[in-house]
Amino acid sequence: MSKKTSIQEEKLCSYELEVMAVIEALKKIRNYLLGRKFRIQTDCAAFAKTLDKKELTPKMARWSIFLTDFDYEVVHRPVKQMQHVDALSRHPVMLVTSDELTYKIVNAQESDEYIRTIKKLLQEGETSEFIVSNKILYKISEDQELLVVPEMMQVDVIKKAHSFGHFAATKTEELVKRDYYFPNMRRCIENVIKNCVECILVNKKRGKGEGFLNPIPKEDLPLSTYHVDFIGPLPTTNKNYNHIFTVIDAFTKFTWLYPTKSIAAQEAIGRLKLQQKTFGNPSRVINDKGGAFRSKEFEDYCADQQISNVQITTGVPRGNGQVERENPWSTNSSIDQDVHRRPD
Ligand SMILES: [Zn+2]
Repeated sequence: MSKKTSIQEEKLCSYELEVMAVIEALKKIRNYLLGRKFRIQTDCAAFAKTLDKKELTPKMARWSIFLTDFDYEVVHRPVKQMQHVDALSRHPVMLVTSDELTYKIVNAQESDEYIRTIKKLLQEGETSEFIVSNKILYKISEDQELLVVPEMMQVDVIKKAHSFGHFAATKTEELVKRDYYFPNMRRCIENVIKNCVECILVNKKRGKGEGFLNPIPKEDLPLSTYHVDFIGPLPTTNKNYNHIFTVIDAFTKFTWLYPTKSIAAQEAIGRLKLQQKTFGNPSRVINDKGGAFRSKEFEDYCADQQISNVQITTGVPRGNGQVERENPWSTNSSIDQDVHRRPD
């Protein structure tokens, strides 16, 4: 995880910031740490001491109290061993320029067609956008000189900047542009990112798995669309109720549950009439093509009341997801078994 310090936090001294980093991390993964012993590795030698001070600032005191929830030991690791973490707080392009990459670029400049052309133009006084210093070609930008990257090295430079945090194109471009110049940079960057295996793997997990489900469009009105279904058979009550007729308002998700003695059309119609007395008719009811809803009686009732009777395909209970969600205990319908045992 990473976090930008706020303006107030920037005023903290370095050891306070180090402690804050630990606190923030613990807050984030608190759920995984409570009740188990764990180790905090930090390069802040003063971590334990900081919190043991006699006179704590109010902030430190709060942190100290927060830490009492956890069962941890602190292991101090010198900076040298912590590079993988510490790198995140250093300027990324510093890394790019400080290694042998720059040295390679300088050598490769000699054999690059584009760079040779510019050098020639410079000699002839045809351009003032570039400068040669120690035989190396730079592009003059507002506040500094940018090393001109030969074509064969461009991908390396982009990869280096991108792999630092697998940033998107804009951020990667921003990093590269701090020290380097080459034409068509944006297009090259997009190409490199498109082919970055790590990014592809991450995006694959995030991407859509199943195809679109074509959900029935909802009107943005309460009480205009009902999802209806029967649940059961359930153990019979002593008044012989053995099913539940469910009505769910698509917009508000408000749910009504009516006990019924069968799954006959008349039961559904009776309950919809009750609904009508209080709320008026919905503009449509959505159901799973169960027998009651396909019956002539139900069709006639809907036609008479000007309710559109939408029947979704049997076997795709997700189509009537509102009702199926309220129906987790149903076991006798094969449709329900299918959907409730689906591991996803
Ligand atoms: Zn990547």
